[in-house]
Amino acid sequence: MYNPHSQKAEEFICHQEVLDSLAYAEQNCHNLPLLERTLDKAARRQGLDHREASLLLASDDPQIEGRLMALAEQIKKDFYGNRIVLFAPLYLSNYCVNGCLYCPYHLKNKHIRRKKLTQEEIVREVTALQDMGHKRLALEAGEDPVHNPLEYILESIHTIYSIKHRHGAIRRVNVNIAATTVENYTRLKEAGIGTYILFQETYHKGNYEYLHPTGPKHNYAYHTEAMDRAMQGGIDDVGLGVLFGLENYRYELAALLMHAEHLEAVYGVGPHTISLPRVKHADDIDPNSFQHAISDDIFAKICAVIRVSVPYTGMIISTRENQKVRERLLHLGISQISGASRTSVGGYVQPEEEEENSQQFDVSDNRSLDEIVSWLIKLGYIPSFCTACYREGRTGDRFMELCKHNQILNCCHPNALLTLKEYLEDYASPQTKALGLELIERELPHVKNPKARQIAAERLQLIAQGQRDFRF
Ligand code: SAM
Repeated sequence: MYNPHSQKAEEFICHQEVLDSLAYAEQNCHNLPLLERTLDKAARRQGLDHREASLLLASDDPQIEGRLMALAEQIKKDFYGNRIVLFAPLYLSNYCVNGCLYCPYHLKNKHIRRKKLTQEEIVREVTALQDMGHKRLALEAGEDPVHNPLEYILESIHTIYSIKHRHGAIRRVNVNIAATTVENYTRLKEAGIGTYILFQETYHKGNYEYLHPTGPKHNYAYHTEAMDRAMQGGIDDVGLGVLFGLENYRYELAALLMHAEHLEAVYGVGPHTISLPRVKHADDIDPNSFQHAISDDIFAKICAVIRVSVPYTGMIISTRENQKVRERLLHLGISQISGASRTSVGGYVQPEEEEENSQQFDVSDNRSLDEIVSWLIKLGYIPSFCTACYREGRTGDRFMELCKHNQILNCCHPNALLTLKEYLEDYASPQTKALGLELIERELPHVKNPKARQIAAERLQLIAQGQRDFRF
């Protein structure tokens, strides 16, 4: 039976409740007054539950869709302003004991080149990332208790945080590794991770079991209850996501929001981020072999529905998507993007690794970080390298409280400008630097709080003079 307060996967992601929600959405998707009322509720910034969100997703009325898209854009502006946070993935190891049918790391793939970075190689990869200007990483690894035990991940995090190279330092390490125990989550927390990210892949239990035929990831309940264990282990920022293309997208959206509602109901804090990945071509993976592929239009609509349903949750789009798709989704709610990503192990130092077959999936946006920064500025966004919330302990419910009272913007806006200034001084090409400096000049007068504006103006000067020890 459906129970968002339960800690059992099959009760908080109740299959029957998902089906009932989809049936409700189907029955009411032409009920314009109901759809308008649902949008009115979203416009009051109250969020939407999984049934209301499913209803909006099911509607094909152009006016409703137009209002939905405009609202998503407005909510994004209200809560996140025009900042876009940048990060890069770092692939530590592609050894994996699972049998995931969509992932080239699967155990039966005998021709993929397996690789695990040594600590010395991590230093070289991170130095290359720092030389681009990155400050925030997402660690990625396959699941393999022998090659990639938790001790290896912890040692790698320690290595990464200890690298100080020229002006660079990685200030926040998010982690995307397989579901683990409460004790291990506590150890990750103690190692200073930012967000713990784990994609559900699909919430549909039957399909999940089919797509994960072998290995520890086969266990649906263990995987789905991972965020509960992470929270119990003390990690209060968790990142959800489904891999779109594996299952009917309407099913996934309802279940994803049920997961968010469950975390809010039990732990008082919803997900810190929701990622939007779609299945892509990879070594021995053909995305066309999955029957639930979604069009760019549906993808954009999903993004907008999530934006209006969970206004306080950050949304992430990776380089799985090309420039055009990313540009479209930025308007509709995305707050974080990756840039200049390599999805092969060791790919930042040896880009030729990327040409070989050790990539996890093909990257569709191959631009450099400088090109991404310049592109964002030209679109009117402030590229942000800020990690201050995490460094100042504004995580979990403390972050959400500030966000709900629109306070986050007061810190984030000036901090985004300051971290952009650092980037421009230390890493940008002359053209990007000129564009960025103009942007900062235009934006500074819009920092709302006069005291924050004054401090930002002083710090901008100090950064120009070479000072770098601020806690962004
Ligand atoms: N080992 C971790 C786990 O078990 O969840 C996850 C790490 S994996 C490096 C990160 C994510 O990449 C996976 O959760 C999956 O959603 C995504 N992924 C795998 N194969 C993909 C493909 N062919 N296209 C797009 N994304 C893919």
